[in-house]
Amino acid sequence: MSTLRFHAVKQTYQREPVHIEENERRSSIFGANVFNEDTMRQYLTKEAFNSVQDAIKNGSKIERVVADHISTGMKEWAISKGVTHYTHWFQPLTGATAEKHDAFFEPIGNGRAIEKFGGGQLVQQEPDASSFPNGGIRNTFEARGYTAWDPTSPAFIYGTTLCVPTVFVSYTGEALDYKTPLLRALQAVDQAAVAVCKYFDKNVKKVNASLGWEQEYFLIDLALANSRPDIVLTGRTLLGHSPAKGQQLDDHYFGTIPNRAMAYMRDLETECMLLGIPVKTRHNEVAPNQFELAPVFDEANLAVDHNSLLMDVMDKIAARHNFKVLFHEKPFAGVNGSGKHNNWSLATDTGVNLLSPGKTPMSNLQFLTFFINTIKAVCDNEELLRAAIASASNDHRLGANEAPPAIISVFIGEQLTKTLSELENVTAGKLSPEEKTDLKLNVVGKIPDVLLDNTDRNRTSPFAFTGNKFEFRAVGSTANCANPMTVLNAIVAKQLVEFKGEVDTLIEKKKLKKDEAIFNILREYIKKSKNILFEGNGYGEAWEKEAKKRGLSNNKTTPEALKAKISKKAIDLYKDLGVMNKVEVEARYEIEVEQYTMRLQIESRTLGDIARNHIVPTAVKYQNILIENVRGLKEIYGSDFKKFAKEQMVLIETISGHLEAINSNVTKMINERKKANNLEDIEKKADAYCFKVKPLFSDIRYHCDKLELLVDDTLWPLTKYRELLFTN
Ligand code: ADP
Ligand code: MG
Repeated sequence: MSTLRFHAVKQTYQREPVHIEENERRSSIFGANVFNEDTMRQYLTKEAFNSVQDAIKNGSKIERVVADHISTGMKEWAISKGVTHYTHWFQPLTGATAEKHDAFFEPIGNGRAIEKFGGGQLVQQEPDASSFPNGGIRNTFEARGYTAWDPTSPAFIYGTTLCVPTVFVSYTGEALDYKTPLLRALQAVDQAAVAVCKYFDKNVKKVNASLGWEQEYFLIDLALANSRPDIVLTGRTLLGHSPAKGQQLDDHYFGTIPNRAMAYMRDLETECMLLGIPVKTRHNEVAPNQFELAPVFDEANLAVDHNSLLMDVMDKIAARHNFKVLFHEKPFAGVNGSGKHNNWSLATDTGVNLLSPGKTPMSNLQFLTFFINTIKAVCDNEELLRAAIASASNDHRLGANEAPPAIISVFIGEQLTKTLSELENVTAGKLSPEEKTDLKLNVVGKIPDVLLDNTDRNRTSPFAFTGNKFEFRAVGSTANCANPMTVLNAIVAKQLVEFKGEVDTLIEKKKLKKDEAIFNILREYIKKSKNILFEGNGYGEAWEKEAKKRGLSNNKTTPEALKAKISKKAIDLYKDLGVMNKVEVEARYEIEVEQYTMRLQIESRTLGDIARNHIVPTAVKYQNILIENVRGLKEIYGSDFKKFAKEQMVLIETISGHLEAINSNVTKMINERKKANNLEDIEKKADAYCFKVKPLFSDIRYHCDKLELLVDDTLWPLTKYRELLFTN
């Protein structure tokens, strides 16, 4: 009998929900472990406080002397909460978070010691960069990396460690992390959007991009998850027959949250409250044991940090509840995978959501300006946006008829479609007073207030307008949101700069009034962006054909999709905006291509091992039992035995057929892997893994899964889908 599987199942049945005490109101503990504005007031001198606030709000530099004051305040606060260590907390290009803890403790001779945390240590650290992915940047520049404090994301305490969010850059200034380009893109969109806002309101000084992510995940009992080598090594199941019951009854979505999962969520939410992560929504998702967690949206840089931190915290707290969190986009075949919708908008420092229709015609024109410019930006850069969400794991989801297709399109709903088609007919050049009035009253003025409730929910759209924000739905659940957020904010920034230029030209050269010029440019944009608008079913084959006709990209695999990242257009875009230079762009591309290859390599090795060393021997064992049975029947019944042994003999042959297929396909896979590994060129290698190695996964799986249906359940070594998905 397979001991690990049954032992794990038994352990799972004995679990009880962990008891969680919640004594305090959540609002009263919110941000208790964050060095936020209130805490700063308490622990910093007035000068230090003002200096940090100025850095946060206006990006000003913090003087070294002041940094000493700040670090001292931070240390006092941290020690008062039992903290012993500090770390710079950053997001290297592995996609995870990184930290290296140092103690405050410092000997000062004569057997004495103090707690120390100086300004220098707050502002900069030098972790050894050589073991993080750098895409050749280090080799080219012989540079070491350093981390530098990002005051726009507040320091926080996790456990007994003070974590200081930082950027991670090489000594020559190239970004080695996700945060640096994001900050630069946010700055670009801020500047570009403020300039456009001035057409409508001179008081606007800053525009913040906002992000509200929705994190989907699976919760699997720890013992069960650990009993599966594929889950342990790859984060997903590489094989396993679908259970009799999956999600066909639709009984999990929004259903009662199971007790153990509920205890986990409450524990997690408490930790999130302490860390200032404003989590608000929790619910069951479509697949069994699948859940979602969403916060109230925040400024994009902070929201990205919060999501990275959350994923980390989710893992840690899960262990306390004997769960394993699966973030993988497709951990189980046959049931839905997980995504991470990125809700995005732009908001001014005067409190206006630029993607929310307003009450007056003028504010609606402002809304339309940002709305149409976003659509145009997506239209012109759809391939780059697709590249931003490409990963080996998200390939399983995009286009799998449960998540948006790999084709990027924008959904805007019936009413706004109507508005755009009316705007498309605006007269070129100067507008008559009647036309202006008509536009303001009947087109722009009529963008209904009820829009918010009325926007249809087209779940098949990768990029949908949902009343007061766009929802980028194609983002994968494992993704670091910085990646898609950098692209989205950068392309919108570029678009807004162009828009401003074109409007100003019309005003100056053609002597058009401001609103006339805006109407004129928007009209052209609507015409030019039509190809990206799609209101129909994104899952249908008809859309694939139609999209092709429209010239939209349909890059189904990561190696194909990633190429857009190093197109001349992308490199120029990043360069013009100061988001990334060519070296940084190419380094990232290289890292992502290599990561793709490595992920597939690990999966392929794991699958080969499981198929050959777990499944094949088990099937042979069962076949031997059958053979023994047939032999016995022959002994008893002599030449008549076939009357009783017929089915067993069919089984014996069927098993042999599957064994042959598994073995030959694993051999084929190993050979393809060898060939791929010998390729020097990283793109060719990724292609070989994608088109030669990966297709064999499903052939091998097919036969293993068939064997699962044939072999004695008590012999089967791998924890089955029904056990993984339905025990909690
Ligand atoms: P669902 O997609 O699950 O039906 P919603 O579309 O209502 O739910 O998504 C809600 C998410 O959108 C939340 O995370 C919320 O914080 C976020 N959100 C709401 N307004 C904005 C905004 N202006 N900018 C960014 N995110 C927003
Ligand atoms: Mg959503």
